[in-house]
Amino acid sequence: MTRIVLATHNQGKVRELRRILGGLDIAGLDEFPGAPDVPETELTFEGNALLKARAISAFTGLPAVADDSGLCVDALNGMPGVLSARWSGRFGAGDRDAANLRLVLDQIADVADGRRGGSFVCAAALVVPGGVEHCVEGRVHGTIIREPRGTGGFGYDPVFVPDGETRTTAEMTAEEKDAISHRGRAFRALAGIVPDALSAAGLA
Ligand code: IMP
Repeated sequence: MTRIVLATHNQGKVRELRRILGGLDIAGLDEFPGAPDVPETELTFEGNALLKARAISAFTGLPAVADDSGLCVDALNGMPGVLSARWSGRFGAGDRDAANLRLVLDQIADVADGRRGGSFVCAAALVVPGGVEHCVEGRVHGTIIREPRGTGGFGYDPVFVPDGETRTTAEMTAEEKDAISHRGRAFRALAGIVPDALSAAGLA
């Protein structure tokens, strides 16, 4: 069976992709010591996901999947977007997720309740040795509330209430969040493409 490398050290993401691509052999980057840590230098989620998938496929010689995601706030013209993880400008010091979330809340403090929309967006890229490349996007729209609620998830989850929900994504179980999340949607869209992409490259 062909191995597919997911360009992350995050075991939660590896488990999620294994659940969605049931039956395929998915490895995380922990299994490839020396794999490059690819800087996210592109201006789009798609650009960054492809950048990482290309680098990891070239390093491992295997098909590679990579994702890039973030929160796009309507009242901030789509920011923090690709800068979501680095929005407060702190690198390594303190709780960066909490600082990022607090900065976004402060930036939209004056925005009226009906105008606090935003989306989590995820691009998922597949690069197969030989040059086949695909990239798909998943998104979930919701509202940015004024104060954090819930202890699940990570990042901006405590302030994000998906449309049609009353809970934040930090108040949902992992399975409930997977079912509607940007990453779940992007990974499921990719799952529909992987078998054909592998067989086109003679790998399945
Ligand atoms: P990356 O895709 O791992 O680079 O994550 C980018 C950043 O976007 C994270 O550090 C979070 O701040 C934010 N983010 C992405 N997905 C989620 C999510 O599902 N919940 C909350 N924050 C997220």
